[in-house]
Amino acid sequence: MTAHAPAKPVDRFGTHRVVEPHGALPQAALRLDATPVAFENEILCDVEALNIDSASFTQMREACSDDPKAIGELISATVRERGKQHNPVTGSGGMFVGRVREIGERLRSSIALKPGDRIASLVSLTLTPLHLEEILDVDLETARVSVRGTAVLFESAGWSKLPGDLDDRVALAVLDVAGAPAQVSRLCKPGMSVLVIGAAGKSGILSCAQAKHRVGESGRVIAVVHSAASGGAAILRKAGLANTVAEADARDATALASRVASLLPEGADLVINCVNCPGTESASILCAKEGGTIYFFSMATSFTAAALGAEGLGKDVTMIVGSGYAPNHARIALETLRSHPAILAYFTDVYGTKK
Ligand code: NAP
Repeated sequence: MTAHAPAKPVDRFGTHRVVEPHGALPQAALRLDATPVAFENEILCDVEALNIDSASFTQMREACSDDPKAIGELISATVRERGKQHNPVTGSGGMFVGRVREIGERLRSSIALKPGDRIASLVSLTLTPLHLEEILDVDLETARVSVRGTAVLFESAGWSKLPGDLDDRVALAVLDVAGAPAQVSRLCKPGMSVLVIGAAGKSGILSCAQAKHRVGESGRVIAVVHSAASGGAAILRKAGLANTVAEADARDATALASRVASLLPEGADLVINCVNCPGTESASILCAKEGGTIYFFSMATSFTAAALGAEGLGKDVTMIVGSGYAPNHARIALETLRSHPAILAYFTDVYGTKK
């Protein structure tokens, strides 16, 4: 039995939870009603942790001078004001991990989930009604925020039961960026040249692994890393996830483009942008070949900068907005991890539960 009736008729996308503006869908809404009840087509969860999107967390770290307490207060304020963790500066969110508390009566017989199951959300926190009682810990290294609170998943929302064979924190880190390896898998073809920018991060490493597998021996993967000395860069080299690992600052478009031109004179067939900072659209466009494709997975991407940048450079490229969803994305991301022991060991070391 649900405890309350919604103010408006429920729909699968959750518009009944939108407080303002009238007519908006939850992602675009300024404010959601995060009342912790499960209406007939919703799943109510007790939230254990938020995995904050990397672009959002980087922005909050800067705004709060790396003070975990201040970041926690900023998150509390955003959630209090908006009913969701929707960073007003970057516009991005993240995902949560938690335990199912209640399933609305209309969903009970149609989903393979029961109260008590532990799940990770596969939709953004920018559209997830969230109510926080307490912030317990902010981990600066992993962007994981331990909390006490509740979240609501709509009928249309994706979720994944936490896999039994992986550390929860590792699974969460991978599921957070699950869209990237799945999209890369379907964009790459044998023989292609692929450039991954921000290759040493979570989505970058998984994207390189997928790209290397898909382009085969006749193709080429170039991984652009911010620092060649980083742990992520070491894994790319050790596990052979790229033909070349190149150090560059992607905000310096001309320097990166000339570095890439020395490796791929015509540019890359496919550029995957996985950075967590703004200002890398031009570099991505310059590094793509004429008629090539750019997949902007980065949430720090500006549509205006990408569109006007391509226009100004007179470059005919296909630019893809990095939706976090692709069919079977959770399965593809977890399989990418399981089939690469070196990546699994690295993710366990960096994101896993500290013993
Ligand atoms: P991550 O693990 O933090 O990795 C980001 C990488 O970008 C790091 O290796 C970082 O290197 C590198 N980088 C930062 N500035 C750079 C620069 N100027 N030049 C070259 N490399 C640079 O991030 P993630 O979790 O993989 O996420 C990557 C991006 O995807 C973020 O923007 C995130 O918000 C976004 N995202 C999108 C979706 C979606 O649905 N589209 C979902 C989740 C996340 P250093 O650490 O050495 O600086």
